[in-house]
Amino acid sequence: MSFQVHAKDLLGRVGTIKTRSGAFDTPHMFPVLDPYFQILDPAFFERAGIGAVMTNAYLLKRGQRSSEAADVHDTLKFKRSVATESGAYQILEYGEVGVKPSEIIEYQEKIGTDIGVILDVPTGFRSDPRRARWTVDETVRRADQALDLTSRNDILWMGPVQGGVHLKEVARSAEEMSKRNFPIYALGSPTELMESQRYDILVEMIIAAKTALPKSKPFHLFGAGHPVLFPFLVALGCDLFDSAAYALYARAGRYLTSEGTQLLGDMVEFSCTCPACLDTSPAKVFADPRERETRLVQHNLWACFSELRRIREAIRKGRLWELLEARSRAHPSLMDCFDRIRSHAEQLESSTPVVKPHGIFHLSSSSEDRPEALDYRARLSRSAEEKGRIVLVLPGRWRRPFHEDPRYQVVSNSFDDNPEISICYYSPTWGPVPIELDETFPIAQAEGRDLGEPELYQSKAAHVASFVKTLRPRRVILVSHGEYGRTVATELTKTLGRRKIVLLNGERLKPQAIMKSIERKVALVG
Ligand SMILES: [Zn+2]
Repeated sequence: MSFQVHAKDLLGRVGTIKTRSGAFDTPHMFPVLDPYFQILDPAFFERAGIGAVMTNAYLLKRGQRSSEAADVHDTLKFKRSVATESGAYQILEYGEVGVKPSEIIEYQEKIGTDIGVILDVPTGFRSDPRRARWTVDETVRRADQALDLTSRNDILWMGPVQGGVHLKEVARSAEEMSKRNFPIYALGSPTELMESQRYDILVEMIIAAKTALPKSKPFHLFGAGHPVLFPFLVALGCDLFDSAAYALYARAGRYLTSEGTQLLGDMVEFSCTCPACLDTSPAKVFADPRERETRLVQHNLWACFSELRRIREAIRKGRLWELLEARSRAHPSLMDCFDRIRSHAEQLESSTPVVKPHGIFHLSSSSEDRPEALDYRARLSRSAEEKGRIVLVLPGRWRRPFHEDPRYQVVSNSFDDNPEISICYYSPTWGPVPIELDETFPIAQAEGRDLGEPELYQSKAAHVASFVKTLRPRRVILVSHGEYGRTVATELTKTLGRRKIVLLNGERLKPQAIMKSIERKVALVG
């Protein structure tokens, strides 16, 4: 039994969890199965590549007819990994459940679960701080009791973190749980936040829990099952989810997609090509009440699992940020969620690879917070440029690396080795790019675009000017090109004074004329 990580991006990761009953890839969602009403054939899970499911140990125990508890794999007719939840959700819904925490541990061991959950006390959405504190303390007490009680060492136990919307309690709970050796940690009580689209608090809860928990362990988020949220939750470090939403939505005629939920009755065509949608139409599916639910259940699961596969591929390629950019456009509340995640950019940076196998895209101002941009700005401020030289500031926009741009290549080449001169490009994507960093990741590998926004020019130009100032230049020669070039000229003049700046008009002068002018200026200053 183990958790292996194969690839990382932002706080997300691609991994494998091995249990006694087999291995499955993460990020993963456990479809929650009703032990007494199974709508899907076991062969479906095989075909859909679903390697682990979840069911409710409390409901199983309550409905047990014979004196011997049957193996949960036999009950569900599912041979691969089975996780069981303890009934904590029933506590949340109905108050007490009439079963002792110790009984539910023993029962999960008896039925041969692969991944178990202790009977914690969910804080819920509406608890006041006092109640939240109590649920945290009581869950910790039960965790100790559970760890003493377990006799099998082939079950992966989840340690639930509580605290609800009270972030200090979440952090305290995570700290306490991290002192106890659980193979998997989990965060409770997010369902109502997701239903009411309070993604801002959800993001903060996950960050508070993740910060205190050991990074080497998988992290489970209870009750998350809509594909629209998966990329964001994975980016925050969630490896596992569980949900019955796929089935509950199907019953209500709801059709899940990565961009949101649709009503089957409102649909004319399926754009999805999963086996449940292929060769049929919404009207045909709608017309047959028996088939309708089964088809929707199947499609909803395909939708969840194809999104998880897409996320895993994005992590492997280092493009999870691009997926968030795209998905955040699906709904204003997702844009809020993305903005909130962006406010934790430094945490995301710490776990993102410094160099990636593929180039990245710089799409809009939201890309400014991506870890690669943060990392670049940090490297820039550490860059050991020689001080007190003449700084030649050139446009960096039409081709990468910038020094190979045919418009100014001859200028770059002529002065690159001159000990009197430092070359710095002004890029609409990155701001200042000294020639030494021009070929490093991500500058040379990033696809950016010139947004043509005066405000963006302004902030980039200010960054160029403040960077050039740190070089304590004897003189600055700026080849100005276009609106952005003029903004850089204004900012440099403001920061360093008019007498330090020599302006050359890159739009009017030919490269040879630019070189002659630079040579004259260098001779004068040198
Ligand atoms: Zn489909």
